[in-house]
Amino acid sequence: MKQSAKGYRFLHPFTFMNNPLQATAEEVRQTYPCLTKGEGAWVYDDAGNRYLYLSTAVPTVGLGNRRVIQAMTEQYETLSFASTCAQGHPFANQLSERLTRIAHHEHAMVFFSNDGSGAVETAMKLVRQYYRSKGEPQRTRFLSFEGSYHGTTFGSGSVTHMGIKESFGPGLEGCFSIPAPHLYRPPVAGDEAAFEQYCLEQLEKTILTLGADTIAAILIEPIQGVNGVVLFPQDFWQKVQCIARRYDLLLIADEVGTGLGRTGHWLASHHYGIKPDLVALSKGLTGGYFPMGATIISEEIIAELYKEGGIFLHGSTLCGHPVACVAALTILEMIEQDGLLEQARQRGEWILNRLKQSLLDHPQVGDIRGMGMMLAIELVSNRETKTSVSFAWSRAFTATLRQAGILANFFNGVLSMYPPLTLSDDEADYLVTRLIDVLAKMP
Ligand code: PLP
Repeated sequence: MKQSAKGYRFLHPFTFMNNPLQATAEEVRQTYPCLTKGEGAWVYDDAGNRYLYLSTAVPTVGLGNRRVIQAMTEQYETLSFASTCAQGHPFANQLSERLTRIAHHEHAMVFFSNDGSGAVETAMKLVRQYYRSKGEPQRTRFLSFEGSYHGTTFGSGSVTHMGIKESFGPGLEGCFSIPAPHLYRPPVAGDEAAFEQYCLEQLEKTILTLGADTIAAILIEPIQGVNGVVLFPQDFWQKVQCIARRYDLLLIADEVGTGLGRTGHWLASHHYGIKPDLVALSKGLTGGYFPMGATIISEEIIAELYKEGGIFLHGSTLCGHPVACVAALTILEMIEQDGLLEQARQRGEWILNRLKQSLLDHPQVGDIRGMGMMLAIELVSNRETKTSVSFAWSRAFTATLRQAGILANFFNGVLSMYPPLTLSDDEADYLVTRLIDVLAKMP
């Protein structure tokens, strides 16, 4: 198709664009490499350049995987669509069973949506309806943690702390934020125990000030992805769960980024020893082969909602699409059969160790962190003050990374990297070697 020289018609999500109506395709390409092919851990742009693709937590088994494509193709050929609002198909229930087993929530149920925001939004609506059904309709408020990203819809955007809600004026009322014990950028002075104590106290204080009986749920993102792969003290989420139980609040774990193998565990919640009432999933679920979100809902919530017959007035036309379900089932089977959880854990640890050995003394490396195939390097212009790198430095760094054949996310001074769980030894070595080279070249 012929493209007009001036005037781009596709509005990219999230990223700043300077007058897109006047931008040339070439200008846009500076920000967005135009990808034409993907194979395993690699993508290629329209100039034939190859990159290790680390930008998002979506590809679990890499791109263009033959096994997934074949299963999806067979499904397209046999039943390319069924509207789960009115009909069933075998794979929605098979996938739901599989997900409840994976989540160690055998008696739970699963609700499908089309993305991560939808999975979180579903969880939020469910808890509201749950409390209405219990005769506590005043429980409408939500608590979430600073730095968490939960999505962009009005509900999920209202519990997100990344400037999303500020962009659109008032969102959902009654959403409150709690400080999080970010280990590299802590909210108070002191040691890990002090940050944790402070945040837990703030959480409890907020609950008591608002009144526990006005709060519906606490949302957590066990490892904050968009905020730069931020990990918290090992026992923090268990302590948050204790507080939630003490005040009879539901716990929603947003595992859209962390779930289904990304951290080297089926769920990050398992690593932290918690059992949330609801779990939101997306990204790795279908690995980018089809849009899909899922919300795992505890038996207690379902029992309450449907105690006298019931209806959850929520859903969308394409949710639980048979092709999405088949893609997800195939990917989950591959993760299990090919030992990808163990592989992600070990390879992630190997990459982290090598990065730490080679880069921790670098004058601009503030922090190196991660778990499994979720890794980050935080870059600073001054290690003492932890001042972020400048805009100009960031641009040069992103360009140098790209020239070195790496596509990763660089946001707020943090390079976040999400290799597929299938990353090979050689690819892990490529990643580490190139990163060390790129940082050596930077002024
Ligand atoms: N929750 C988390 C933790 C996420 O990382 C994201 C996306 O980055 C979302 C929710 C929203 O998912 P989506 O972009 O698919 O709507």
